[in-house]
Amino acid sequence: MTTAANDHLNDWLRDAHAIEQQAETMLTAQADRLEHYPELRARIVQHIEETRGQQRILDGILSRRGIKNSVLKDLGGKVAAFSQGVGGMMTSDEVVKGAMAGYVFENLEIASYTSLIGAANAVGDTTTATACEQILVQEKAMAAWLLDHLPQITAAFLARSAIPGVEAKI
Ligand code: MG
Ligand code: FE
Repeated sequence: MTTAANDHLNDWLRDAHAIEQQAETMLTAQADRLEHYPELRARIVQHIEETRGQQRILDGILSRRGIKNSVLKDLGGKVAAFSQGVGGMMTSDEVVKGAMAGYVFENLEIASYTSLIGAANAVGDTTTATACEQILVQEKAMAAWLLDHLPQITAAFLARSAIPGVEAKI
């Protein structure tokens, strides 16, 4: 495939790297704030470790493809704005909004890696495609966990909210 296709792939790999940096920031902020939802917190902590592993995988891909990561693209700023909205969400139902936002974010990652796999295969970079498939499995698992647990997180929040003097939001 053409140089142009490889240039696009390189751009999208840089985007993915920016997304993973933002993911770590956002997940860490959530884990630090969560006090009363230990199961959710534990799953987020697990995904922070997975996210750091994904960053290492992407670092390897970027260096193997000779991509300099010094210039962060525009998407980094956009994702940052989204995440600040999530992290700074000091609403009374913060745990519910945070879990919903986490689900949305995981789906952004799912779309990104699904597209990257198509691009990597299109230029014949099967090493990158395979690595992105490994990451994609983790993103799908996190998205599925959040969706599966959203009803009980919401119910737990409502139960705590009903007790006077009990902190429910986080
Ligand atoms: Mg990720
Ligand atoms: Fe993720």
